[in-house]
Amino acid sequence: MPLRETEAIVLRTYRLGEADKIVSLFTRQVGRLRAAASGAQRPKSRYGGMLEPLTYIRLWLFERENRDLLRINSTELLESFFAMQGDYRVQLAAQYIAEAAERFLPEREVNERAFRLLLAVLRALKASREIDRPLLYYNYWLLRLAGFLPQLEQCCACGRALAGEEIFYGDETQGLVCSRCRTSRSRKISGEAFSLMEKMRRSPLDAWMASEPLAPAVREARRLFETWMEACAERKLVTLELLAAES
Ligand SMILES: [Zn+2]
Repeated sequence: MPLRETEAIVLRTYRLGEADKIVSLFTRQVGRLRAAASGAQRPKSRYGGMLEPLTYIRLWLFERENRDLLRINSTELLESFFAMQGDYRVQLAAQYIAEAAERFLPEREVNERAFRLLLAVLRALKASREIDRPLLYYNYWLLRLAGFLPQLEQCCACGRALAGEEIFYGDETQGLVCSRCRTSRSRKISGEAFSLMEKMRRSPLDAWMASEPLAPAVREARRLFETWMEACAERKLVTLELLAAES
């Protein structure tokens, strides 16, 4: 019964029977997985608040032969993102980060860059309490790291370079299109939002967060990426609808 040590971000928890919990985790050393935590529903559980969603922990896991589900042996708190979730919009943004990670990151596939991305975006949310720039950055990088990022420099239908052109996107396409390839359902993306995306793609998160907020253009770009996120996920993301109702 080998014991593994790993760092992890708690994505979600489910009740298991009267006393236990199933914990959905994105671990640094093993990738995304689910594990059972005995007695985690009890008021005086040894896990304390460590198994709450979006907590960054170190944990020790038992791998049991012939069983898919791992068992959590013990945990240690590394960083809490609990206090920031007192702000409802930030809480929704944090839940969206977890939901998208569950949807886009395959089980048991190590992805160090995605792990660092989650942690960095959570820290940006915690420090700024702003949701638009951290979520835009997260959407872009999660799509890229999961291999779903569409072509952003050329029309996805005819291949024409998009710089200096009128640019459109629609639910039916997985990328940007030029004015010749647009359909009646295509929506135009502003030049401001397009150049902002260019800037974000070249910036580390700290520099991106230190740049000028430009709220309407950031929100526009965020929506564009979220359209792609939902198209790739092939179903609605629950938290996205709640977020849209808030902004
Ligand atoms: Zn075209």
